[in-house]
Parts: sequence; C-alpha cells; structure tokens
Amino acid sequence: MYEPTIGLEIHIQLNTETKMFCSCPIVGYDVEPNTDVCPVCMGLPGALPFPNKKAVHYSLMLANVLGCEINRKSVFARKNYFYPDLPKGYQITQDEIPVAEKGQLKFKLPNGEYKTVRINRIHMEEDAGKSYHIGSGEISLIDFNRCGVPLIEIVSEPDMHSPAEAALYVRNIKQIVTYLGISSADMEKGNLRVDANVSVKRKDETELGTRTELKNLNSFKFMQKAIEYEINRHINCIESGGFIVTQTLLWDEKENKTFPMRTKEELSDYRYFPEPDILCIYVDEDEINHASESVGELPGQRILRFIRQYNISNEIAEKVCETKGFSDYADKVLKITSDKRITINWLLIEVLRVLNEEKISIEEFPIEPKNLAELLDMISSKKISNTIGKKVFREMIRTGEDSKSVLNRLDIKFISDENELEKIIETIIAENPVSVNKYKSGKTNVIGFFMGQVMKKTKGQADPRKAKDILIEKLN
Ligand SMILES: [Zn+2]
Repeated sequence: MYEPTIGLEIHIQLNTETKMFCSCPIVGYDVEPNTDVCPVCMGLPGALPFPNKKAVHYSLMLANVLGCEINRKSVFARKNYFYPDLPKGYQITQDEIPVAEKGQLKFKLPNGEYKTVRINRIHMEEDAGKSYHIGSGEISLIDFNRCGVPLIEIVSEPDMHSPAEAALYVRNIKQIVTYLGISSADMEKGNLRVDANVSVKRKDETELGTRTELKNLNSFKFMQKAIEYEINRHINCIESGGFIVTQTLLWDEKENKTFPMRTKEELSDYRYFPEPDILCIYVDEDEINHASESVGELPGQRILRFIRQYNISNEIAEKVCETKGFSDYADKVLKITSDKRITINWLLIEVLRVLNEEKISIEEFPIEPKNLAELLDMISSKKISNTIGKKVFREMIRTGEDSKSVLNRLDIKFISDENELEKIIETIIAENPVSVNKYKSGKTNVIGFFMGQVMKKTKGQADPRKAKDILIEKLN
C-alpha cells in the first residue's frame, strides 16, 4: 500500500596524511584538542587554502569504481552557514560542478538478486570541528583538530526502499573504500557518517512524498532503526490526514525516536558561490589513468580469486573477504598452508573468536601469518593434535612466539609411538570394566568416553587416529 523511498548521503573521511587545504597532519582522537591547527584550517584572515592532490586522486579512484563520469574541470564552492565548529563561517565544498557524477553501485541482496543504486554525484569537501557539550548543555567545548580534514561525499539517487537495503548499500560502499585504502570508514570513530532522506508515497502514486532528512547516523543499527521509525511516522501521519513537514531530524538512541534538529534551510540560504581563493581543479587523462591503475583488487574480484585459488565455496569466500584487512591476512596464510579447509576453519572460527573477544582488529592480531600457517600445517599433517594445536595457538597469542618455540618451551611431544599408546590404553581398559562391558553389549558410543580418557592421560598429546585404532583393537 505504501512505498518508502530512501536516498543516502555518505561522508567518508579520507586517510590522507594532511588536511584538505593545508599541511596540518590528520590526527587521531587521542590527541590534545586544538593542537593540529593552522591559520588556513582556522580560517584566519589572509590565509590561503591549497587543495590536497592525494584527496583528488582518491576521489578519482572511487569515481572509477562507481563508474562515474569524471568532470575534467571541477569547482570548489563556499557553503555559508554559521556554526561554532566552523571557524571560517563557511565550508569549502563542491556545488555545481563536483569531481564526478552519474555512477552506480550494484550489490547482492540476501535473496541472491542484484540491486542497482544510482549515484548522483561524488564531491570533495572539508570537515568541520567537533563540539562537546558538558552537563545539560550550559558549557560547550570545541576541538578544531578535525577542521579541514578531507571528506568525500557520495550522494545516491533515491533508489532504496527499505532500511535493510540502505544498510547493505552503506556496507558495500564501506567495503569498497576500505579495499581502495582511501578511508578506514569506521562508523564508530565517525569517519563514515550517513545522512538519509526518507519519504513515503502510496504505491499507485508516481510522485515521491515529502521527505525528511536524518542527519549523522553513526551506526548500522541506529541507521536502520531511525529509517524504520521515520517510515512508520510518515505512514501514520498520512493515514491520519496530516502533512509531512520538510525537516532535518536526529535520532535519539535513548528514546528510540527522531527529533527535529532545525527547520531545514532552503538551499539558497547557503549562498553557495565559487571559492575565490582556489583555482578550478583540472584533471587530465594521465591522472584518470593513474587513478584507475591504483584501484587494485576489489572485493568481487578477490572473492572470485579465493574461490579459484583456494577451492572454497562462494559463501565462505564472501565471509573471508568481507573486510580487506582480514582477507589480506587470510590470503597470506592460505598461500602457505597445505590444507585449505582446515585453514579456513581456523581463520573463521579461532581467529575471529580472538578478534571478537579481545576487541582487536586483524591488524592488531599478534600471530604473524607465516607462524599461523606453520602451526596449521603441523595440525593437518597430524604432527600435533587439534587439542594441542589450540593450546599452542593460545600461547602464541599470549606471548607472540612462533609455534616451535611454544612446543619446545612447554615440552610438548607428540605421542605416536605405538608401544607407549598401547600401554596407556591397556591401563584405561583395566580401570573401566563397566564401560568395557557396555562396549561389548553393543554400545559402541563409549568409544568417545575412552578417547577422552586417552587424551586426559596423555594431556592431549596422543595421535587421535592411532589411539582410536589401538583402542578398538584392544576392546575387540
Ligand atoms: Zn591547518
């Protein structure tokens, strides 16, 4: 009956070394406020901005991947508005002629079908500072370190029709920019921010309904909740005969509802005009080619390569390649190990578990790829059991040693000597007459119990296959 329509604006903070228009370094959040600023990013009189070439290069890379038309000449513009975290009184952005326009992103939906979202434009701009409100708002502090940090804004056409589709689109953009290496696109750290335009119309109507804009959605969860809430609010309003008012809204994560930020200014209120202190940006054939050569392997290509090279399923390859960092690591391990199936299991279960439990990224994971590969090869060639493997793995994480050092230090030897195993198994059989009788009466599942005893007695150091063979022989 009703059809929601969603368009998204994604802001991505670029990981260039310096800011968009000055040579201030881009610093993390652990840095003292207001220390990485200069007359340019503070907008002091007489300071002249100078565009960051790397940021232009990154924009061209993204434009290439999203199939956009690149404007050989693009123009920076001033967007005038007053806000305390914007010391210049205007933001330098691109208005009429952005760096690139008219692209598209095609991505897979959970039902296996493909969805195409058209990209309206990609433009470059600078970030504003950050305000901190203390107590109930009577004191506000401002940190200008973020002023002038380069951003790319990706504006989609209103082509999405559910919160889930919107979230998938953002996930795909995030994956692309991290594979390109142009942004860490971490929503929690605020270097990927989303604004959503939401409207609702009756299915039989051709014109879109009045839209509201949700600003600063900073997590996938809140983004989906906020869009869902807005859709329902619009429908309820239309049903009760009301009108939707064009508004900019924020999401209240405690109350689980949207609330108005300010009445949306008319676009002309920003009094856009070409930035007089910066020449137009001209890009030539060489720069466009250089950008397309810098693109490297994209997620889709890597998934296909992993399926071919490592003989794994599409589903598994998609999981492994979800983030560039993890798939880089997996690639290094898989290139070395002989048993790809065991390797994939360890990567997706054991390694991911550690990352989740320790809340660390794969870049911080303490085991070098070649050391993990060495351990996995010992497990797959039965030099050590899976149980011992896990124990060694935990030690490697704790100390950063390689597997051989851990095995030496803990004095772990693998018991595959048959005589030794026979003796141990004979003792176990002698100690457990009840279970022996159970086995003889046909309850063969007591093998599991006996194997547990073997592993207990050998502290997990027995070769499980040999032990099982001997056990069955002895029992029979
Ligand atoms: Zn600066």
